[in-house]
Amino acid sequence: MTKRDKTRFVHVARPASNGEAGAVNPSVVRASTVLYPSTAHLRDLVRRRNAGERSFSYGAKGTPTTFALEDAITEVEGGKRTQLFATGLAAVAHVFLSVLKPGDHVLLAETIYGPARQIADDYLKPRGIVCEYYPGGAAAAAEVARRLRPETRLVYLDNPGSIVFDVQDLPAICTAVKGSNALVAVDNTWGAAGIYRPLALGADISVVALTKYIAGHSDITMGSVTANERIADQLWRDSHILGQTVSPDDAYNVLRGLRTVSARIAQAHTHAMEVIAWLQRQPQVERVLFPPLESDPGHTLWKRDFNGAISLFSVILKPQYKIEHANAFIDALRLFGIGASWGGYESLALTYQQGIRGWSGGALIRLHVGLEDPADLIDDLGLGFAAMGAVRG
Ligand SMILES: *Cc1c(COP(=O)(O)O)cnc(C)c1O
Repeated sequence: MTKRDKTRFVHVARPASNGEAGAVNPSVVRASTVLYPSTAHLRDLVRRRNAGERSFSYGAKGTPTTFALEDAITEVEGGKRTQLFATGLAAVAHVFLSVLKPGDHVLLAETIYGPARQIADDYLKPRGIVCEYYPGGAAAAAEVARRLRPETRLVYLDNPGSIVFDVQDLPAICTAVKGSNALVAVDNTWGAAGIYRPLALGADISVVALTKYIAGHSDITMGSVTANERIADQLWRDSHILGQTVSPDDAYNVLRGLRTVSARIAQAHTHAMEVIAWLQRQPQVERVLFPPLESDPGHTLWKRDFNGAISLFSVILKPQYKIEHANAFIDALRLFGIGASWGGYESLALTYQQGIRGWSGGALIRLHVGLEDPADLIDDLGLGFAAMGAVRG
């Protein structure tokens, strides 16, 4: 039976009814050493592991608890298999480490997550991997096609883009790349939990910072890499070679987050739409960057390719407002915290300087709307605008 997402999140990767003493949830299995009944058993485990089969043979190779989460993410993202990493950024890094070698060319969207850009600039480039950026947005597929070389091994993008939330035509990018040696990898953190399915749209690899909405409570970092037949086994093997795994306690809690993620996202998105409707009426606001808005340049593609939206967006202030105004705005907020990350139950705000990648307009504030009452959040943002008005400059 094919399940719809809400059902899937509740039922995926649960113990069989007769297993684990009838408990609803999988057990937390903590292990480094796993004891084998005999050397023959051990030889068999190693043989199966070398053939690409998953087995509980040593803690660093995964535990039944981490396997349950891998299975759950594979079912949500599609594809062949999933690997877990201690942070979202380590998951991003694994794609580069496993896929690229010196002399390869990689095309990266301008609007990728900043720390991913740092991997390219400060780690890959010095090691002889040629990194080239292309503009995101509606023309991205043409930009990729134009830059493709025989040695292009990877096209890497966030969709929507980081901070500016530009939407790229992923099926068109995959068509442009088809027949070449290049793989397409998407950071799907914004669209995780079934909102966006890059593998179904033709990508080879989907990376998710589970840290965000799936873990959902601002207390865990974790990342996942899910891939199709073309590259999944290599990514799996390399994660073992490099000793990548996560704690079973963390995996348990991320799986717990997955159970309620659809309810949390739906509620936060409703709150976000209320907050945005109010923001759009404020005279200090130039524009809200959020693909679900009909006025957003990415709206048509978002409508075609996404199954919903979350509660992370950016606000552009009118040109007379500078970064000092944006900082004063955020410093005045009482409910919105000033902090990195997003996807927890609480609201957050950050400012970004002019001149960020993919955006050349005025001061920008990124907001994550949480589960607080939107009327209280709107009152809080009112304090921000009042503080902004008091800034001289
Ligand atoms: C947060 C984030 C990451 C990195 O996740 P961490 O767990 O914080 O390392 C990667 N990509 C995107 C789009 C993110 O928002």
